[in-house]
Amino acid sequence: MKPQDQVVSRAHTIVETARKEGRKFLMEYESKKILKIYEIPTTQERLVLNEGEATAMAQEIGFPVVLKICSPNIVHKSDVGGVVVGIETSEEVRKAFRDIMKNANLGRPKAKILGILVQEMVPKGYEVIVGGLRDAQFGPVVMFGLGGVFVELLEDVSFRLYPLSKDEALEMIGETKGFKLLKGFRNEKPADLNALAKAIINVGRIMMDLSEVKEIDINPLIVHDVGVVAADARILLS
Ligand code: ADP
Ligand code: MG
Repeated sequence: MKPQDQVVSRAHTIVETARKEGRKFLMEYESKKILKIYEIPTTQERLVLNEGEATAMAQEIGFPVVLKICSPNIVHKSDVGGVVVGIETSEEVRKAFRDIMKNANLGRPKAKILGILVQEMVPKGYEVIVGGLRDAQFGPVVMFGLGGVFVELLEDVSFRLYPLSKDEALEMIGETKGFKLLKGFRNEKPADLNALAKAIINVGRIMMDLSEVKEIDINPLIVHDVGVVAADARILLS
């Protein structure tokens, strides 16, 4: 098999697993596996089943860590109190594990809980949203916007059809109002726009290669002065 065919086939296997279970979306850790196959950097993480495994994994990753609910029935994890960030000690890991389980059982009593995702806490950076969708007429489309109020309040997003060049991806980033911040406001270091442009193009590649993917949502992708990391991701299937 050619390298490109191997990439598609590995990603396809992940999608098929979800489809066989009758699911319409990939959970965070599954979505991130696909991002990784397409060279979009993601958090180091592992799914664990109990407090003991959670503390062992946290120590292996190194503090601070983030704990998140992992369920095929919960799309928006924070809505149910399913995300705890900035965990600094093993004791806090145990508490977060119990709190998340309790919150999920209260908020979504019928949800099937697969476990808890323990992941590295990504250092502070620019939180942006990178997305992919499919236009019925024109095919794969990529989306970019700065996170928080820029997208939610100002609807400050830009779109391009795939395929797009690196320059076109940079242009797409440049036409949002949030771009002023990314360039480095006051004493902040500028964002790594090349790494961001690459991530946008790779989201388009996933849309192009996997026809059963309806939508991709990386929210947030955290952009540093060098490199990017996907802290959360969701893939919807058609
Ligand atoms: P939701 O399913 O609610 O979108 P997220 O996984 O996006 O849950 O987590 C909520 C917020 O927590 C994110 O928008 C981000 O600000 C922060 N966050 C999540 N994971 C990490 C991480 N690994 N490192 C740093 N911040 C994170
Ligand atoms: Mg999110």
